[in-house]
Amino acid sequence: MQTSPKLRMTTQRQVILEELRKLKSHPTAGELCQIVRQRLPRISLGTVYRNLEILSRSGVVLKLDVAGLEMRFDGTVDNHYHVRCLDCGRVADVEMGLLEGLEQTISQHSDFEVLGHRLEFVGHCPACRQAQAHA
Ligand SMILES: [Zn+2]
Ligand SMILES: [Zn+2]
Repeated sequence: MQTSPKLRMTTQRQVILEELRKLKSHPTAGELCQIVRQRLPRISLGTVYRNLEILSRSGVVLKLDVAGLEMRFDGTVDNHYHVRCLDCGRVADVEMGLLEGLEQTISQHSDFEVLGHRLEFVGHCPACRQAQAHA
């Protein structure tokens, strides 16, 4: 993964990006801020948030922005699918290849030139299902 040459990498931005890329959990800005503070103790949530916005605009970070839900961030920007828990909001990657032919199908059924796709599945995660079973 190359970073955009136009993107200026401050130390803060570099640390935020490094820590996000280590995670598979698609953290919120607040969750990531807690982790980044282990290396940069005085960094504020506002700074983390602002840097995440800049990184996502530059395409090195993926912003998972679903209306009405807290924004989450992903260090993996290659197209991949997500499954989101409707109870706790956890987002996991789905380990599968891309659905070949999907974009072609959409092109055939709309008058858009289709350049890509985003897909998110929703359901109940194992921890929430277990909690439900014991409730
Ligand atoms: Zn859950
Ligand atoms: Zn992901």
